[in-house]
Amino acid sequence: MAVDAATASEAKETLKPHDNGKDGLSIYIDPVTGQKIPMRDGKPCRTCVDMKTWKRLGKVAAAKTPEQTASTAKESEPKESSNNKAEAIASSANEDKATTPSAEWQRKNCPPDVEALGSSTWTLLHTMAAYYPERPAPSQMDTMKMFFEGFAQHYPCWFCKDDFQKSVAANPIQVGSRKKLSQWLCERHNEVNEKLGKPKFDCSKVFERWLEGPPNGKCD
Ligand SMILES: Cc1cc2nc3c(=O)[nH]c(=O)nc-3n(C[C@H](O)[C@H](O)[C@H](O)COP(=O)(O)OP(=O)(O)OC[C@H]3O[C@@H](n4cnc5c(N)ncnc54)[C@H](O)[C@@H]3O)c2cc1C
Repeated sequence: MAVDAATASEAKETLKPHDNGKDGLSIYIDPVTGQKIPMRDGKPCRTCVDMKTWKRLGKVAAAKTPEQTASTAKESEPKESSNNKAEAIASSANEDKATTPSAEWQRKNCPPDVEALGSSTWTLLHTMAAYYPERPAPSQMDTMKMFFEGFAQHYPCWFCKDDFQKSVAANPIQVGSRKKLSQWLCERHNEVNEKLGKPKFDCSKVFERWLEGPPNGKCD
């Protein structure tokens, strides 16, 4: 999934600059799927979309004439596909068959897409929370708070980061204990799950998932 909850009215705002156009960020409506695609400097943001979408849009961009490419940030109706675009999309399936390496090879060698980055990041964050002290010292509380403040500024999927910043502003980080931090993080993750239409995780099972493993011993 590239971006959640595209409303009909938002979808009309094709290639709308984000954050007042700062940092070359914008939103593009995928002419094939209608999904909102986060862009940086007129190109799809790799860490903001899934690999399949990123590759397909890369091929479409490569098939554009220089004039089309230069005007990408000003287009208002990207649904009007050019012949070049259509050919690029049609031929990409054949090219993919011949050149695409295995998913395992890509996982180990390619920059992450939004899903690989997200899954690895949640693993780190939940594991950090699960190993955080039950009774942290003041300095540990300070550094954990600073870690999340920095994380919220630098997470490489920019629209994920923006939403996370809003969530943290509305729900200040709880660094008082391992349990408080783990529950707080579980709730933040559940907000993203909800946004993406995924089931909510049962936060009472957070230590089973990230610290102890299930009682059936399958992880032992
Ligand atoms: C801060 C942040 C914001 C993100 N925002 C977006 C976004 O706006 N749009 C987007 O497309 N993607 C976003 N992502 C990525 C997204 O959350 C997923 O990581 C990605 O879709 C891959 O999902 P997954 O199915 O591998 O499971 P993930 O959601 O990555 O979860 C990994 C594992 O964590 C466990 N888990 C699930 N929920 C919880 C929970 N609440 N508490 C504890 N453990 C849990 C499950 O065992 C699951 O298998 C974001 C990621 C991060 C870190």
